[in-house]
Amino acid sequence: MWTLFRQQLAASIDLLLPPSCLLCGQLLQTSRDAQSFCVDCQAAMLPLSSAHCRCCAQPFPSATSNHLCGSCLKRPPSFSIVHAAGIYQGSIKDAVHQLKYRNQLTLAKPLGQLLGKVIAATGNGFVPDQIIPVPLHPHRLRERGYNQALEVARPIAQQLGIPIDTTLLQRSRKTEQQQGLSATERKSNLRNAFTLVSKAPALKVLLIDDVMTTGETVRECSRTLLAGGVAEIQVAVVGRA
Ligand SMILES: [Zn+2]
Ligand SMILES: [Zn+2]
Repeated sequence: MWTLFRQQLAASIDLLLPPSCLLCGQLLQTSRDAQSFCVDCQAAMLPLSSAHCRCCAQPFPSATSNHLCGSCLKRPPSFSIVHAAGIYQGSIKDAVHQLKYRNQLTLAKPLGQLLGKVIAATGNGFVPDQIIPVPLHPHRLRERGYNQALEVARPIAQQLGIPIDTTLLQRSRKTEQQQGLSATERKSNLRNAFTLVSKAPALKVLLIDDVMTTGETVRECSRTLLAGGVAEIQVAVVGRA
């Protein structure tokens, strides 16, 4: 009886407010499957191809085996692997922009769920003890009103049944926006930008961010966490440039 009532209620809501794509607004064809994106937007979400660095997931231009990239060979990162929901292009790029700069918070859940599926498929049995979203500086958090990395982390934490820690890692220095800076500028911009509030327990951490371009942000967070006592770090991002 209750199930029937719920089905009827859902059908009435769909009739009044037909579900539409969270990204482009196009009406979704079937209301039964809880899709957030239309087929066109889903088709423009490109997963990482097999040709990428086996540590930082930097896509390689041509199909080669997944060896280490030049950057990881020269400066081995403090994390062991990067998971990405997709390449930072097309719908993934559009969705991250809308989430980050246009207050489209409803995008965080489906993007986190998409990333959660990728982590489950590529995690190689890694079970983190804690999920840590890349922190924003308190000033930027006040400007934006939310931390998009934390919002993406929530559905992943729920899916994996793992707690989120937002206190251990702090952004202690207000840095310039990384966007528009050269690789060298990004590196020096973030030097010592993060601190730990206490010595870290020897835990396995899944570090989450919205996007990874040169990777300096997650490199610096991971370096700080590992130096502070964390045992192992894997990184998960929505978009990998
Ligand atoms: Zn769409
Ligand atoms: Zn690499």
